[in-house]
Amino acid sequence: MDFSVSEEVRTLLDSVRQFRERELMPLEREFLMEGRLDLAKRFAAEEKGRKSGFWALDVPEEDGGQGLGQLQMAMVHEVLFQHPAMFEFGGSPEPVLRHCHGELRDRYYHGVIRGERRSCYAFTEPDTGSDFARIRTTAVRDGDGWVINGTKMFISHADRADFVILFATTDPSLGASGVGCFLVDMDTPGFEVSRPIPTMGDDWEPNELSFNDCRIPLDSHVGDQDNGFGLADEQLTHGRLKIAAFQLGIARRCIDIAVDWAKRRVTWGKPIAARQGVQFMLADCETELEAARMLVYRAAWMADMGEPIRNEAFIAKLYATEMAQRVTDRTLQVLGGLGYSRELPIQSFYRQVRVWRIGHGTSEIHRWMIARNMLGSAAKD
Ligand SMILES: Cc1cc2nc3c(=O)[nH]c(=O)nc-3n(C[C@H](O)[C@H](O)[C@H](O)COP(=O)(O)OP(=O)(O)OC[C@H]3O[C@@H](n4cnc5c(N)ncnc54)[C@H](O)[C@@H]3O)c2cc1C
Repeated sequence: MDFSVSEEVRTLLDSVRQFRERELMPLEREFLMEGRLDLAKRFAAEEKGRKSGFWALDVPEEDGGQGLGQLQMAMVHEVLFQHPAMFEFGGSPEPVLRHCHGELRDRYYHGVIRGERRSCYAFTEPDTGSDFARIRTTAVRDGDGWVINGTKMFISHADRADFVILFATTDPSLGASGVGCFLVDMDTPGFEVSRPIPTMGDDWEPNELSFNDCRIPLDSHVGDQDNGFGLADEQLTHGRLKIAAFQLGIARRCIDIAVDWAKRRVTWGKPIAARQGVQFMLADCETELEAARMLVYRAAWMADMGEPIRNEAFIAKLYATEMAQRVTDRTLQVLGGLGYSRELPIQSFYRQVRVWRIGHGTSEIHRWMIARNMLGSAAKD
């Protein structure tokens, strides 16, 4: 495994760091106090990123992107996610969209790269989350189109999307083999964002989506008609690696804040940094962050080598998200009352990281999948 960083990537990471300090950090106080970043300001920062050359970073060069690999992207995310607004650069289509052909490819895949369109994706339903193969939203062939009916839950960023990457069943009797992936424009009659769902996370309000006899053209499905499960799996694997990389930035920032505070905060005549109880908390944080980084880098490096990373992504996300939960908790403790206050980002990170033990597959489902890879058919209940 080779995690060495070229001079070019070192320069890129320095520029991302400067961007974070210059464009995002001035927005941090407002974010912490309001619990959200005004959408116009978020988009303005994204546009500034684009002007600074941070656009379509992981898109192949032949498609107009910058061709960064997964390892380099993990390093970029580690830098960016030291800010609590969970900011990402734009122009990167969801992996599913790479499978679009013809007009669909230009409209959606290249539309995202050109910055004309934004997507959200919808697997989860009121009755189906982890058990994705049992989704009930239906796509029924009807003449020259498909008719969609059903409800989707917890769909992030639907409020700012131009289209939804929708997973629906074309034949419920086939389970996972009867799931299709469809692209639906947000203004399609019969489709609405029916309600926001407030959560404990800052600036993270997913939505419920309703489809009532929503008619879409026949060629709106991505790839083969019933290969939605495979596409979802690819999408989720990619997402798991990305989420795992986010945790590295979050943990780094929290540890840096706690180390700085431990040296300055004096109790009984000594900085708390001199107390072993505090030292041990910090040492555990640093050790676990390093361990998580190795898992993330390894999975990312394997992806760059063209190797399958389904299991490695499960392992990296499981460990990194649980590491981030422990690190945000311990570092908040080191800060005492200040850690709990909105003056500092640790409390925001603390609440934010909780979702990543749920979304893109819960920790329990991750453990189940990892065990299945270890135990084979003996793991079947
Ligand atoms: C803020 C937020 C944003 C989200 N964004 C999106 C989005 O953009 N798009 C989207 O499609 N979804 C999204 N989700 C949904 C998310 O992916 C689901 O919540 C997640 O997959 C878990 O499904 P569930 O909530 O139905 O939990 P359930 O599947 O009902 O699970 C409940 C509990 O049971 C456990 N459990 C279930 N089955 C098993 C088993 N076989 N063995 C052991 N334990 C089990 C789970 O681990 C969990 O602890 C989002 C959720 C949140 C909170």
